[in-house]
Amino acid sequence: MGISIRTPLIHSLPLSQHSGCHVWLKMESSQPTGSFKLRSAENICRHYAERGATAFISSSGGNAGIAVAHCGRKLGLPVTVVVPESTSDRAKQLIEQEGAKLIVHGKVWSEANDYALSLATDDIICVHPFDHPLLWEGISTIVDEIISEGLTPDAVILSVGGGSMLSGIAQGLENHQLGHIPVYAVETQGTASLHASLNAGKLVRLDKVSGIATTLAASQVCENVFNVASRLDVRSMLVSDQEALKACRRFLDDHRVLTEPACGVSLSILYDHKIRFNAADNVLVIVCGGASVTLEGIAG
Ligand SMILES: *Cc1c(COP(=O)(O)O)cnc(C)c1O
Repeated sequence: MGISIRTPLIHSLPLSQHSGCHVWLKMESSQPTGSFKLRSAENICRHYAERGATAFISSSGGNAGIAVAHCGRKLGLPVTVVVPESTSDRAKQLIEQEGAKLIVHGKVWSEANDYALSLATDDIICVHPFDHPLLWEGISTIVDEIISEGLTPDAVILSVGGGSMLSGIAQGLENHQLGHIPVYAVETQGTASLHASLNAGKLVRLDKVSGIATTLAASQVCENVFNVASRLDVRSMLVSDQEALKACRRFLDDHRVLTEPACGVSLSILYDHKIRFNAADNVLVIVCGGASVTLEGIAG
C-alpha cells in the first residue's frame, strides 16, 4: 500500500487569466499529511525499514516531523519526534495524532536536532528534515507524475526552506531532460538562506530567521543546492510576509484550499506579477501545502 499519493494536477483558470499564461498547480496540499514531505519521508523510511530499521526519529516540529510520524504509523514502526520549545501547539497536536512520541527539547531547532541525533543507533534512524538524497529522490516523483500526464512545463515556481524540494524537483527535471527550464526558488525576506548562499557563492548561515513562514526558517540550506544551481537555471526570488499571506487568502478564494505562507510565497509570484511569462508558457507551481495552518493564521 502506498503512503504518499499521486496528487492532482490542475489547470488554474483564475491564476492563468491573472498571469496571462497557462498556470498548472501540482496539489501537494492533497497529500494525507498536507504537504510534499510525505513523498520524501516515505522514500527514506521505506528504504531503512526494508533494511531492518526498528524505529525512526525526527527533529522537525513541522511538516517533516508530521510526515515521518505518519510513515512510521503506516509501516508499523515507532517514531519519536524531538521538537524545540518554539513549536506551535497545533504542530505538536498533529504529531501526537499520528501516534508518535513527542519530546520537547531545547530553545531552537539545532538543540532539538542534536538531541534527536544522540538517540539514533544503527537500527533507530534519524531522518533529517531536508538534507538527504533519499528525500530528494522521493520528491522527484512529482515531476514523473506531471510528465506522465502530458505536461511539459516551461518554468517551475517552488518555495525553499532547507532545499529538499529544490533538490528533488531539480533531479526530476533532469531525469526528463528539462534541466534547462527556469526554476524560480522563492523565500521570504526573513528566511532568505538560499538567497544569501547563492549571492555569497558559498554556504551562508543566517544569524537569525524571522517572520511568518516558519516552515521556511532553515538558517542554512543544504549544500546540494549549489550542485543544483550550477547545473540548472535557478532564480532566487524574495517576497514579504504580507505578500505571502495575501496570496494564501486569494488562493483560498480561488481554489478553496488553505495553505501555509510557506506555500503562499510561490503563489504570490503570480498574484503579484513578479515575473512576466509568455502567453504560450506552461508554468508549473508546486503547491507544497502545509499542515500547521489555520484560517485565523492567515487572517489579514
Ligand atoms: C518543507 C516545506 C517547504 C520547504 O521545503 P525545503 O525542502 O525545506 O526547502 C515549503 N513548504 C512546505 C509546506 C514544506 O513543508
